[in-house]
Amino acid sequence: MRKKIVAGNWKMNKTFSEAETLITEIADALDEVTLTNAEVVLCPPALYIEMAMDVAFESNFTVGAQNIYPEDSGAFTGEISPLMLKELNVAYCIIGHSERRKYFNETHQFLMKKVDALLKHGIRPIFCCGEILSEREANQHFKVVNDQLVESLFHLTTEAFRNVVIAYEPVWAIGTGVTASKEQAQEMHAYIRGLVAKKYDAKTADETTILYGGSCNGKNAGELFAQPDVDGGLIGGASLKTDEFMQIVSAL
Ligand code: PEP
Repeated sequence: MRKKIVAGNWKMNKTFSEAETLITEIADALDEVTLTNAEVVLCPPALYIEMAMDVAFESNFTVGAQNIYPEDSGAFTGEISPLMLKELNVAYCIIGHSERRKYFNETHQFLMKKVDALLKHGIRPIFCCGEILSEREANQHFKVVNDQLVESLFHLTTEAFRNVVIAYEPVWAIGTGVTASKEQAQEMHAYIRGLVAKKYDAKTADETTILYGGSCNGKNAGELFAQPDVDGGLIGGASLKTDEFMQIVSAL
């Protein structure tokens, strides 16, 4: 049975002391929750990963990163490598987020390198895909998502692919307060699972965790996660507030 996940993408938010407070609050709240075949992943800014790992050690969540550079080491000022994350036991890393595609011009090919670099070190990519509004309006959303998966993921062997988590994040829903309807989410998630089945096999598709992301909150998480192909969420803004985040976790 595939695992359900709620992952918090903190983006570039919180000072160190605010981050410590939030992590501790979430850890305390998670102590009261039983997660069955489900996982909570927190992806704070890289600077806070070590602190988060210390808290996670005695708690019920896993730590992820938001980005890597796809080399083990070298002259890449300002970047962090998957080897560095591996030594800290970081389990997941977000890849292909629309903000990185847009503001840092990350291409399909560069994302493919990042995926490979993570998997080489046993770190699971949370691979984001999704269309912008004009692409949906032009009925191109399936093609856009297909291309993102084919170009950056489908070179992987079946064994390697099984370590990938996919996050469908329609860009028009990220940080806008406009959520995809449960029907839109289910339709795209089923489409993605179908692509995986066609490229790999039915068992691999069935076991692939596919998250929804885009203005998911405590109110809409329940109906989104109830869809047969929606296996949890990648949460931005709502992951910065303990109560709201825990409402989303309780929808798992
Ligand atoms: C995100 O950035 O991954 C995201 C889903 O953001 P938000 O929940 O704020 O829309």
